[in-house]
Amino acid sequence: MRVLLIEDDQILVDRLLPRLQAAGYAVDVTASGQDGTWLGNQENYDLAILDLGLPDAEGLDVLRAWRARGRQMPVLILTGRDSWQEKIQGFSAGADDYLAKPFYSEELLARMQALIRRRYGLLPGSLCLGLLELDENTQEVLIEGRRESLTGQEFRLLRYFMLNPGRILSKNQLIEKIYDTGAEADSNTLEVFIARLRQKIGKEAIQTRRGQGYCLVKPE
Ligand code: CA
Repeated sequence: MRVLLIEDDQILVDRLLPRLQAAGYAVDVTASGQDGTWLGNQENYDLAILDLGLPDAEGLDVLRAWRARGRQMPVLILTGRDSWQEKIQGFSAGADDYLAKPFYSEELLARMQALIRRRYGLLPGSLCLGLLELDENTQEVLIEGRRESLTGQEFRLLRYFMLNPGRILSKNQLIEKIYDTGAEADSNTLEVFIARLRQKIGKEAIQTRRGQGYCLVKPE
């Protein structure tokens, strides 16, 4: 999952970033509303976290600009100004959820998980596909009751596959969802991760579609 964090409070960013990464998100961060508007229009994010008070723009204007361009990713607004009028303004500008500062990162993570589930049309709870079950809290996969731990990259990859079962996902799409911007990413390392995942969940579970990418099929 790839998320955009637009926040100018560096202390908060320093606190949140490792938590988000540990929870398996590839995160792009900017303190600028203008950069954030541009990024949100260019990139395919699964979710954006948007601070309302930014040095060069109002967060709500960033949100309105995305929605005017037809960008549909869920947007969770962060603000220190927790008034009901602002919440209404935020929702009518197209926000999906709202969190007032200060907050616990656990609450942010839980809300993010719920928004992303909803976006993929899934019910809350653990992510299941046939005999595969992904535990997002422990980052382990259960296959026929057998528990396998996953590395951070394997977890990111498998979660994205499980949110898109039966769909062919290109190498670029997968790389985009598992790496932070600027990280060393190439398709050879992706192949290594896929090979390791196959060892854990079964060789046939992830099929290679030559020239197109990979596809997770329901493991029997
Ligand atoms: Ca701010």
